[in-house]
Amino acid sequence: MPQSVTSLPADYPGNLYVVAAPSGAGKSSLVKALLEIDTRLMVSISHTTRAPRGQEEHGREYWFVTPDAFGQMIDHGDFFEWAEVHGNRYGTSRAAMEQRLRDGHDVVLEIDFQGALQIKRIFPSAVLIFILPPSWEELNRRLCRRGEDTPEVIAQRMVNARHEVAQARHFDYIVVNALFETALFDLKTIVHAQRLKYSTQRLSRPAVFDALQLS
Ligand code: 5GP
Repeated sequence: MPQSVTSLPADYPGNLYVVAAPSGAGKSSLVKALLEIDTRLMVSISHTTRAPRGQEEHGREYWFVTPDAFGQMIDHGDFFEWAEVHGNRYGTSRAAMEQRLRDGHDVVLEIDFQGALQIKRIFPSAVLIFILPPSWEELNRRLCRRGEDTPEVIAQRMVNARHEVAQARHFDYIVVNALFETALFDLKTIVHAQRLKYSTQRLSRPAVFDALQLS
């Protein structure tokens, strides 16, 4: 659900990138690798009602909260967006994002397609990136290889994936993750191209623009 409008000025300095993909397409690994090589990017930590998995830590991968606490945050208008994904709730809080963008950081949201489309309504200049697997067969192979899920859960994820992939047409960019290094290069290129836009350069290089009397 879209929660609230932003108090950010229209020409906020940071870029906002939103990455979505079906489960198993390699989104988390790609975003992690991107963050390692690009120190100007910051990730926004979401809130979720799901329980931590494996080595996950409160405040690192997610803010893990109870359904009641999540409900209170919705009531208080604390989220830009939230959605139910695979039976749990996930949300992007204002606190996690707004200050970072205002400070001029570039922020990456790694969220599901519903959240991505909600963010685009609030932040029209957000860059929406959808990561596709090269084929249904390969997606199924990757989900099986992960060894995290039962055959029933994998079958359900494949059904969900068809619905999710159908939303890719609403995104600005498509990255096909056939070969990890190529997909990472594509992701880097999108981030870099956004920084070269006139409006972004005007804000990030005021001295050059002023010297050239460019408005
Ligand atoms: P997981 O439980 O595997 O970490 O995440 C399940 C799905 O929820 C993934 O597609 C993930 O990107 C998405 N997700 C994580 N945080 C958010 C959020 O704040 N909002 C929305 N809409 N989806 C999220």
